[in-house]
Amino acid sequence: MSLNDFERHPLLFGPSPVHPLDRLSRHLGGPRVWAKREDCNSGLAFGGNKTRKLEYLIPDALLQGADTLVSIGGVQSNHTRQVAAVAATLGLKAVLVQESWVEWPDAVNDKVGNILLSRIMGADVRLVEAGFGIGFKDSWQQALEDVRASGGTPYAIPAGASDHRLGGLGFANWAYEVQQQERELGVFFDTVVVCSVTGSTHAGMIAGFAGQDRPRRVIGIDASAKIDETRAQVTKIARATAELIGLGRELREDEITVLEGWAGDRYGIPIDSTVDAIRLTGELEGVLLDPVYEGKSMAGLIDLVRDGDIPKDSNVLYAHLGGQPALNAYSGVFH
Ligand SMILES: *Cc1c(COP(=O)(O)O)cnc(C)c1O
Repeated sequence: MSLNDFERHPLLFGPSPVHPLDRLSRHLGGPRVWAKREDCNSGLAFGGNKTRKLEYLIPDALLQGADTLVSIGGVQSNHTRQVAAVAATLGLKAVLVQESWVEWPDAVNDKVGNILLSRIMGADVRLVEAGFGIGFKDSWQQALEDVRASGGTPYAIPAGASDHRLGGLGFANWAYEVQQQERELGVFFDTVVVCSVTGSTHAGMIAGFAGQDRPRRVIGIDASAKIDETRAQVTKIARATAELIGLGRELREDEITVLEGWAGDRYGIPIDSTVDAIRLTGELEGVLLDPVYEGKSMAGLIDLVRDGDIPKDSNVLYAHLGGQPALNAYSGVFH
């Protein structure tokens, strides 16, 4: 099997845009930093990295005759919002289990942003009291049971569409999309920086780039504050995806890099470096980052550049994975 043997249901505008962040690059005084924009990759409810992953899960769901997509995330999950949008455009139902992963004091945290958008798109949104975790949950099994009990056919999509056989394919394909865009732009991105939590975004990239001739660094920045779990998850999905797309060799340890230091103590809670990175990118580039994911990976990128870990002659590709709707639930951070 190769990647091209897997069916892909088109949900994106096409290849996501790649462009330089020149004012940020000059400010940091180091390598040229570019962004590839999954935050505007689709017309479906602002898109994002999960929409790209779902391109490979949807054909499987349709093949199985599913009429309801069932998924899970935090209250401000970008993932469940994207599942709601994809269900809407396909004429399917969506049941979304929204767990209280983050204790955040904004009064409207469970009313605005992603959860608002999911409600508008007609999803059955279920608020559940349960802590952060990316594994399989009782509340989720219950949601699947409920769909079956009412005569429906559910299709189970785990948190972040990651712990799923096909979860890594979207970003394996992204790696080839990057290669094509590099040819068009006449540039080589020797370093890729990406936020990692449920793992299949980073893992898919690793598997996809591993099949290309020219090696590069793909640096995952943990935003879950559970570095061992993130590393284990990325490793597992990267290996499984590499095998699925017929890489024909084992991934090496040095191909899997997940760094800690920018997540703070807890998933979903921005720290000073997160807020500084969001403000800097907003003020210099007019590019918006969120406080849960992208602000943390950008904080990582900034420090890696400042410390010289990413050398001055590099071309760095920052994978912007989306997430801005959650900003509305974090108004207390910016005033
Ligand atoms: C889900 C998400 C991530 C993390 O991607 P994983 O595949 O879960 O590791 C990063 N940024 C945004 C905006 C997300 O929604």
